[in-house]
Amino acid sequence: MLTAPDAAAGTQAPCRTLRAWLDRLAATDRLAVARPGVALRFQLAAITNRLDGRQASFFPRPDGHPVPVVSGLTSDRDWMAEAMGVAPAELLPRFQHAAAHPLPWREVNDAPVQQVVHTDVDLQRLLPLPTHNEHDSGAYITAGLLISRNPRTGIQNVTIHRLQLNAPDRLGVLLLPRHTLAYLQMAEEADEDLEIAIAIGVDPMTLLASQAIAPLDVDELEIAGALHGAPLPVVHCRTNRIRVPAEAEIVIEGRILLKAREEEGPFGEFPQYYGERAPRHVIQVDAVTHRRDAIFHTIVGGGLEHLLLGGIPREATLLAHLQRSFPSVRDVHLSKGGVCRYHLHVQMDKRSEGEAKNVILGAFGGHYDIKQVIVVDTDVNIHDPREVEWAVATRFQADRDLVVIADAQGSKLDPSTRDGLGAKMGLDATIPLDAPEMRFKRIAVPGERELVLPEVLDSGADWRQGLGL
Ligand code: MN
Repeated sequence: MLTAPDAAAGTQAPCRTLRAWLDRLAATDRLAVARPGVALRFQLAAITNRLDGRQASFFPRPDGHPVPVVSGLTSDRDWMAEAMGVAPAELLPRFQHAAAHPLPWREVNDAPVQQVVHTDVDLQRLLPLPTHNEHDSGAYITAGLLISRNPRTGIQNVTIHRLQLNAPDRLGVLLLPRHTLAYLQMAEEADEDLEIAIAIGVDPMTLLASQAIAPLDVDELEIAGALHGAPLPVVHCRTNRIRVPAEAEIVIEGRILLKAREEEGPFGEFPQYYGERAPRHVIQVDAVTHRRDAIFHTIVGGGLEHLLLGGIPREATLLAHLQRSFPSVRDVHLSKGGVCRYHLHVQMDKRSEGEAKNVILGAFGGHYDIKQVIVVDTDVNIHDPREVEWAVATRFQADRDLVVIADAQGSKLDPSTRDGLGAKMGLDATIPLDAPEMRFKRIAVPGERELVLPEVLDSGADWRQGLGL
């Protein structure tokens, strides 16, 4: 369901800048503007969370800082489809297509993001850095696209890492065993620091592209270009060789240091628990560039913007993965209650008995984070948790339809695992193929769906006037 009255399905062009998206949100009552001077510590996150999923929030002069903050840009699935310029049902296929057909970027010399250049850097003075959750260690940059460069091939990688303010010109960074770390290990062999840049304040499609589950040496900025339907304009950094989105609001240029480690965390993460404190990698900042009237974007840990940004690219990848082996799979959804990571709903048009259990096993192989899979028939809306629960309530028997796998690899951020070792559970809530037709016939009132209520209701009427007509 589209929340914006003018958001006609699939008719607009994709949104290509943060400012264009803010205009769209503002014009449709989806951007709340706070009074100037909101506190960066907790108050900003409190307001964002209260509006989460209904309105994005904009904070002028937070703690008196001249740079405003924005949050909650993509805290609704249908908003993402709208920013992409497609109907909600086309969200995953369109993302899949973009990931499979990246569009090389276009280099420009004159970029808004380099209107102002600072080489003598004090991050806390330059940027309004908020602190979100109660036990976070301090101020973080949470919506920074960290762009690194393969030291051998020059191909770039883009992803979001949480970045803790360690010192006026140093950030702590959590590097999980993925692409940034792979590039850092290559830099280590050449005994060089890894050049990086951090882009803050990009458009919704570039944000989403940064979360694509792409192979190593696929530049996510090219997926952003494919989502835009036009090559992404990029500009050469001032102090290193990284290319950054020219239309971004703010860019931090720097290096991940080979040797340095500093304490980082705790930090409120997507499962709605804290990631632990430990010695982690360090970024030395060399420059900050920004637009003359820059906007700072922040993502509140554990909020819907955080969950959906990670969830939607995963859904697209999981759908493609399952459909390779099971053409009967129609759609997948990572539920919000399962933090858009752990619980997968699968809708399928089952053709053979037992097929749903194969789909369950296939889904576990799609990503180690998945710990619960519920498979339903095509008449069940997998985006509605109540419908999925209804299917389990009426089509599932635990002694017959439950799959449990002990001691498999899970998410280390799931506190119920033993350091990432956990169980998998699959529920086959599909109707048996040989069931008599009326046993699982869903009740329905003829004409209910097509009814236009204003045509049959008398809105001003008093019920007593209806007596004895
Ligand atoms: Mn990557």
